[in-house]
Amino acid sequence: MLGGAIRTAELTAPGYRHEVFSCWHPLFVGGPAYPRLKDDLDRRGLAYRNTATPTGVVMTDGATAVLSTDEDALTAELDRHADGDGAVWRREMGEFGARSKLAFGALGTELWSTAGVRLGLRALLSMRASGTLAFMESALEPATAWLQRTFRSEQARALFAPWINHNGMGPDDAGSAFMLKVIASATVQGGIPVPVGGGVTLVEALASIVRDNGGELHTGATVDRIVVRSGRAVAAVTADGTRYGARHAVLASTTPQALYLDLLRNAELPAVVRDAARRYRWGRSDMQIHAALREPLRWRDSRLDSVPLVHVTPGLDGVRKAVGEAGRDVLPARPSIAAGQPTVLDPSRAPDGAAVLWIQLLETPYRPSADAAGEIDVGDGTWTPQLTEAYADRVLAQLGEQVTNLDRAVLTRAVLSPADLERENPNLVHGDPYSGACTLDQFLLWRPIPPHPGHQTPVERLWHIGAATHPGPGLSGASGHIVATHLLRRGPLERLRGLLAAR
Ligand SMILES: Cc1cc2nc3c(=O)[nH]c(=O)nc-3n(C[C@H](O)[C@H](O)[C@H](O)COP(=O)(O)OP(=O)(O)OC[C@H]3O[C@@H](n4cnc5c(N)ncnc54)[C@H](O)[C@@H]3O)c2cc1C
Repeated sequence: MLGGAIRTAELTAPGYRHEVFSCWHPLFVGGPAYPRLKDDLDRRGLAYRNTATPTGVVMTDGATAVLSTDEDALTAELDRHADGDGAVWRREMGEFGARSKLAFGALGTELWSTAGVRLGLRALLSMRASGTLAFMESALEPATAWLQRTFRSEQARALFAPWINHNGMGPDDAGSAFMLKVIASATVQGGIPVPVGGGVTLVEALASIVRDNGGELHTGATVDRIVVRSGRAVAAVTADGTRYGARHAVLASTTPQALYLDLLRNAELPAVVRDAARRYRWGRSDMQIHAALREPLRWRDSRLDSVPLVHVTPGLDGVRKAVGEAGRDVLPARPSIAAGQPTVLDPSRAPDGAAVLWIQLLETPYRPSADAAGEIDVGDGTWTPQLTEAYADRVLAQLGEQVTNLDRAVLTRAVLSPADLERENPNLVHGDPYSGACTLDQFLLWRPIPPHPGHQTPVERLWHIGAATHPGPGLSGASGHIVATHLLRRGPLERLRGLLAAR
């Protein structure tokens, strides 16, 4: 199928269109590819819906906080819980904003390139050595430390803490404060857009651009190997033996293991490359729960009824605890529940008056060896249907504490365990939705593998793209954009040829 981790399907009941995997498009709309393709996408019917209250939190004790894209409203909301938190937030975001060109630049640029060096030099010139060191220090800070020193209220900390999970990090990881500021400032500036009709409309529009420009798209086949001749990638061969010759380039959107250990198994490669691919680590696993709702959820704090993505969590400490439990292969007693209500923005995805619920659990162990609550028998750690449903029951019961109508609303549900995710897509190894841990040793300058960071591989004309490469996971399209921009850059000879042809 086209789309990878974008798939819209009637997963539960007729008329209920679920985003099976990814749901929210702020990274695409705020990324580098969208502005370049926007007119073409608009013409093909792609339309986004957004809101001024993209996200909120409800804590176990029922306390809530809502993030608004209106700075004054957000300041007032933060002050509601602890007077002064709003002003500190503004100051912190102001300081980050002054450096945001560098932050967002780093996420949209090939770092190991002249453009990357230029970016670094510009930073050094504008901030001088001491400013650069200070910036790097703040960029390495763990989110826990930043949240604790920025906000006095637990509610404000809880509003932001679960978002670290959406970066493939944990709150105590080095660099997590930086990524949290990136996501917080992007959400305040850009909200949480979703495409009308679901992600499939983006996939179809992109496919139509390719076809209308003479391209072909082949699905239903697995690429078995990449053929290398004299150090150059010359073809991709599918499992049924079909050979696709490559005149210009081969782009592989895979994990490093799949690329270097499998697809290139017959190619001569430096040993350090294969070793590095072997060492590449997966992040925490994910579970997805989808429910068809007879009616939208009615939250105890009715402000949340119109918030597309609500986190249910005990707070910062609860996120730290659940991340630690999942990291130790233990089923969290109280996971951070990302409860998505896309029909708040796009009612067309459900029958009249009904809704869909998208739940993401980013603190799930791949093979649980115990249950932190001591209630669920995890067996030998295999995600059997019994284990999957038992854990989903826990999650829905905890969600049910915060809404008044869960039992009445849920018509039917579908649950995807980490093992299901892994089965659905070869890039989701271990059910890691982000195709590799995003801790600093596998991020930015080091992603995907230190001997070949960025997108160029040791094989000429072979490019590595996708979530496992810089700038990491999410629907930004950034890695493909970086490589496409490079491939389409024409040298002086091609430019002259173009000029002559135009005459
Ligand atoms: C459950 C889930 C929820 C998410 N939610 C969000 C979200 O809301 N917003 C967001 O921005 N990001 C989200 N993400 C992350 C985001 O979806 C991914 O980071 C992104 O899709 C990665 O794009 P990609 O092109 O690298 O890989 P993919 O989207 O996984 O696409 C890779 C494609 O390549 C195919 N493939 C791989 N190997 C082969 C082979 N050998 N032969 C043939 N085909 C092959 C795969 O089958 C797949 O179709 C989510 C991810 C998951 C899994």
